[in-house]
Formats: sequence, C-alpha cells, structure tokens
Amino acid sequence: MMTDAETSLRPHEECGVCGIFGHPDAAKLTYFGLYALQHRGQESAGIVASDGEKITQHKAMGLVSEVFREKTLQQLTGHISLGHVRYSTTGASIAQNVQPFTAVHRGCFLAVAHNGNFVNTLALREELEQRGSIFQSTMDSEIVIHLLARYCDKEIKKAILETFEKIKGAYSLILMTKDKLIAVRDPMGFRPLCLGKLNSATNGYIVASETCALDLVRAKYIRDIEPGEILIIDKDKGLKSLFMPPQSRKSYCIFEHVYFARPDSDIFGINVYKCRKRMGNIMAREIQIDADFVMPFPDSGNYAAIGYSQTSELPLEMGVIRNHYVGRTFIQPTQSMRDFSVKVKLNPVRSFLKGKRVIIIEDSIIRGTTGRSRVRSLREAGVKEVHMCVSCPPHRYPCYFGIDFPSGGELIAASKSVDNIREYLGLDTLSYLSLEGLVEATGQPADTFCLACFNGDYPIPPDTEFHKMALDCC
Ligand code: SF4
Repeated sequence: MMTDAETSLRPHEECGVCGIFGHPDAAKLTYFGLYALQHRGQESAGIVASDGEKITQHKAMGLVSEVFREKTLQQLTGHISLGHVRYSTTGASIAQNVQPFTAVHRGCFLAVAHNGNFVNTLALREELEQRGSIFQSTMDSEIVIHLLARYCDKEIKKAILETFEKIKGAYSLILMTKDKLIAVRDPMGFRPLCLGKLNSATNGYIVASETCALDLVRAKYIRDIEPGEILIIDKDKGLKSLFMPPQSRKSYCIFEHVYFARPDSDIFGINVYKCRKRMGNIMAREIQIDADFVMPFPDSGNYAAIGYSQTSELPLEMGVIRNHYVGRTFIQPTQSMRDFSVKVKLNPVRSFLKGKRVIIIEDSIIRGTTGRSRVRSLREAGVKEVHMCVSCPPHRYPCYFGIDFPSGGELIAASKSVDNIREYLGLDTLSYLSLEGLVEATGQPADTFCLACFNGDYPIPPDTEFHKMALDCC
C-alpha cells in the first residue's frame, strides 16, 4: 500500500464496480469482489442489497476492510447486490459522494455505481437543474439517476436507452433496481466491464470491472460487456441485451494495460500480465543498454522488467526491497526529512548495488517527483550508472476519461524534453517505449485504443470546463 504522499503523486483510476444477481449471499460476494478491485479506488466503498422488496445499504469513507464488518454484511440481505470502490477524479472526496448513489422516484428504487467520466456533464447538469432537479453531490455519476427519473414513467428499456443516448464520455456502470441488475458500457468501451457465471446452484451472475473479481468468488468468465451494450439481468427474463447506436471506432484505455488493471486480470480480451511482459520484450528490442542487470521499483515495472530481462538476456535482480507494511496512517515526514516517505516503502540493497550499472524499468513518469527521489536513493547506495526505461511513451496530455492525470502543466513531459527529464531525475540515460511498440504489445490494432494522453488525439472532445471545476472542488 502506498503512503499518502505517494498516492498523491501516482496516477489513479477513478473506480471499481461489482454487482451480483441471484445468490442468497449477494452482499458478501460483492464484498469479496470489491476486495479484489481495491486497487481501482481506496477512498470509499459501498454496497447496496435487495431481496426484491427491501433495500439495505452501507457506505463510508475508507478501504473495503475498514468500511465493512461481519455484522454490517449480515444486515445487507437479499439476492441482488451492487458495490463500488472509489478514488475521486470528479467530485470532492467526501461522504456524500460515496457510491453507489441511491434514489427513490415515484416509487422506483434506483442505485448506480460508475467507473469513468462523462464529458458533457456541465451541459446535462444545467439542463436538469433548469427543469427542477436538485443534486445531492458534485459527482457526474448522479446525472444518470436524474435522467432515469425523468423517464421513469416509461418502460425500463426505453428509459435506459434514452438516458444513455444523452450521456457522452467514458462509463462502465452498473444500475440496480429492486429486482434487476443492469450493466452498461459506453459505445467506445473506454473502461473494462465483464460478465461471469456464479459457481452455484442458484443460476446467479456477477458483473465486475475486472476478471480478478470473478476469480475471487470462483465465478466463470462468460464475456466482456460489449461497447454500447446494456445488459439487463432479471429473474424471469434471464439476460437481455440492448445496444446503443454503434460508433465507428473503439477507444479502450491502453493505460489500463500499462498500469491500472491487475496483472491477473484479462482486460479487453488480453491478459494484463502477458501484455506487460511483451512491453518489456519490445522495449529490449527497441532500446539496448550496456549494464550489469535490470531491476524494477516494485511493484511498478515488475512484469515489463521480466520481459526486458528475457529479451536482452541481462539478469533480473531485485535491488530495492519493498516494505509491505506501510499503511495509510503513516505519519508524513517534515520537509527536513526529505525522501523519507520514499525510503520507508522502498529501501535499496546497498551492499549489492554498490558500483553496479543498472537499468530501472518503470511503468510511467507523471510528475517525476517520486522517480527523482528513488534515483537519488540509488545514487546514495553507490550505484555507478542508473539508466531508466519506461514501458509507455511520455505522458504529454491530461486524461478526461476517468484517470486523475494532473493538468497539462503538471505533467513533466508536457513541458520538458526527454533529455531535460533525464537531467531532472538524475539519470545517465532515459528511454521510453514507442507508441507503436506499446500498441504492438497488446496484439490489437491502434484504432482499438484511446491513446490520447500520449498523442493528444481525444476520441471525444472533452468537457475541460467541468473537469477543471471538479478538480477545483476536490
Ligand atoms: S487519455 Fe490515457 S489514461 Fe485516459 S482513457 Fe485515454 S489512454 Fe486511458
């Protein structure tokens, strides 16, 4: 686990979602699913459950293990359940923004759990407020509830289609009514969402952000929710799919493969572990350096480092040791104890590193602050040459689709050349995997992916005003 100082410097995913349908212990399975998805959001967690009539819910700020106790889970009864873990990229990190959002409108109960960002939030919010909607939170996800409430007198399928035809942006979300679970993925498919069959006699299903959640509850992966698909899971009608109008291209977030998703998950039909290793293989082909060995700063870069080592035939070593017991309550050092928060988590093996020429494999450089401290600690340990290879191209543009990359001004590669970054980090050489190499590692064509944070080609024009407003209020 990262310290607070580090968590503010590394990029974050906005959220993870998990829904269970058709199991007597639905809330408990959702809890396990959220545990597997904890890496996608560590600020808050929530679960809503239904037995077809009665709704129960519990949500709070904190990690899944902090928010739920055995007794709390026992009170969340029913065969349908929806859960969410959150890291805020839009909307403040406060209790009223904890998801799933719930509302009752003219007797219809509705809950929503969302991963991603809408890009036409401001216009939709203004329109809804003019028509009398009162928002309880600063989250873009709440818009779904208001839009659905507007169409509440229509048949559910019609209401859902009309709602999502209005919303633009990146969203993988799950809706829950008293008796249905509904999975929705935006037409470009930015964020992952998959469907599994529960290993039980109950004919139940699970929908989750990543396949690692399915593994934990021993569910069988069936398929991904398709881009533009609305999948309704209902006791009487089983699975029923509707589709939004198709888009000419897909925009899967390639950074899920570089950094966010768990290596034991399959994302967009590709295993993350294998993909990260291939990034390392291709980097070794593109970038040759004369050095004694390759090493990651654990855990970032671990799998690309294996790939780089195998192709370059340089040994893979663990030159820094990670302390796994650093919790969130770790007290931040004062300014005079510079680098302390880096060292408490990663400590170099001094006697092994002294006099060596090392290649560090990193998964990304965002602001450069953490990397600079880490390189300094290697120099202090007596490393003779420090080379760094990054398993993706330089991040030059902000993300508006659910990842909290800082504004362009804070991204180090937006304003500095590669050589200036090398100098800032204190490296002998700095190299990045090419964009072509990154796409090649996925085994899929480039137009399958969003590459906007690397090349500035945004698949949908972003709502920069709302994004700025939301970040300001965080
Ligand atoms: S801009 Fe980058 S991080 Fe954001 S969705 Fe696109 S690829 Fe992913």
